[in-house]
Amino acid sequence: MVTTVIISMLCVHLLCFSVMFLLISTKLSGKKLGIDVFAVGNLLLGLAYALQLFGGPNGVGVLGFINHSLTMSAPVAYVLGAMRFFNHSTLVWRPLLSFAVLYTLLQALIYWLLGNGARHALLAGSCALLFFGMSVTALYGRRTFAKNLRIEMLIFALAIGGICVLNAAKFYIIVAEGMAALDLNSSFQKSFYLYMSFLSTLLPPSAIWLVLGRLTEELRGMAAHDPLTRLLNRRGMVDGLQAHFRSRLAGPGYLLMVDLDHFKQINDTYGHQVGDLVLCHIAEILNSSARKGDLICRLGGEEFAIIALNTDHAGALQLAERTRSTLEQRPVPGINPNAPIFCTVTIGVSEAFTCAEALDGAMQQADAALYRGKSAGRNRVEWGAI
Ligand code: GH3
Ligand code: MG
Ligand code: MG
Repeated sequence: MVTTVIISMLCVHLLCFSVMFLLISTKLSGKKLGIDVFAVGNLLLGLAYALQLFGGPNGVGVLGFINHSLTMSAPVAYVLGAMRFFNHSTLVWRPLLSFAVLYTLLQALIYWLLGNGARHALLAGSCALLFFGMSVTALYGRRTFAKNLRIEMLIFALAIGGICVLNAAKFYIIVAEGMAALDLNSSFQKSFYLYMSFLSTLLPPSAIWLVLGRLTEELRGMAAHDPLTRLLNRRGMVDGLQAHFRSRLAGPGYLLMVDLDHFKQINDTYGHQVGDLVLCHIAEILNSSARKGDLICRLGGEEFAIIALNTDHAGALQLAERTRSTLEQRPVPGINPNAPIFCTVTIGVSEAFTCAEALDGAMQQADAALYRGKSAGRNRVEWGAI
């Protein structure tokens, strides 16, 4: 009786969260981060428990077969959802359906060869193996694809590891004691479903937490970057600078203001699309010229900035000169090679500054130097105080 109540609650829980996941996924246009697939997983498991309640736990009929296939397909759906969450584009319905059909055939074979007890042992054994794999993958993910979710992955691995252990124990008990092990009133079954109920309370809100975390991260990234070139925007640059100067060991910064020469002419001659291509080309050169840790930013229009960090005056001027000459020599990619487009930039370099509040002053210096460079004929580097 107690176990039946636990399974009923578990079933309601899973179905409610399935609906909630679906509702959340409808709000995420485009990238759903796997939450729609988690909804499918919850639905499958919720339906499996519903069948167990209506058809009896040890039923052999069609309901019993469907029940086991749904129970096994649910974690497969969770795996596919997790793959989508971690940006692996994967199909969902085809692998899920193929798996369900294959598992149903396997059940039929085992039932025919070894009987109903073996069919239940197959479910427990397969679940133990699958959850073991998921647990190991979560632990592996802490070092690779989920480095920024170390604690979450550890908790997940432990929780999933618990299901693996319980299913392995269930497999052993079925093999040792036969179908009697599946009596819902046994203390083992009570513990088993109590643990599943605990997980159905813990895991769905955790999935929502992870998706919200990812969305916030993406929104923060979008707010700090220029959508065309993917460089930092002014806000991202200020944030990066503040982070740099928070360190006690932070070295000085030099601001390099980079402005494309005669960009209006390029736009007027070749059109705005080619103009955008030129902007991306500049972004690429700035990225390859600067050192790791320098801040590269599109200030707006055809104005860019590099903040060279942890360097000296000579280093900042070298970077500016290297950037200028590389751009002058490289044609814009993606343009007909018989009529290549070359572009040049003028760069104004500020004096050293040592705190984020000094950025405005450095901008005025670099801007003034840039203006001198434009007046002196463009395609050159100028530096120094106003
Ligand atoms: P100078 O050598 O003095 O810097 O001349 P310039 O033509 O580069 O500078 P000006 O300020 O006269 O023109 C800048 C042009 O940049 C005007 C505008 O149409 C273009 N522009 C600004 N933002 C974008 C953009 O996102 N895409 C494209 N294609 N063009 C842009
Ligand atoms: Mg310009
Ligand atoms: Mg300009």
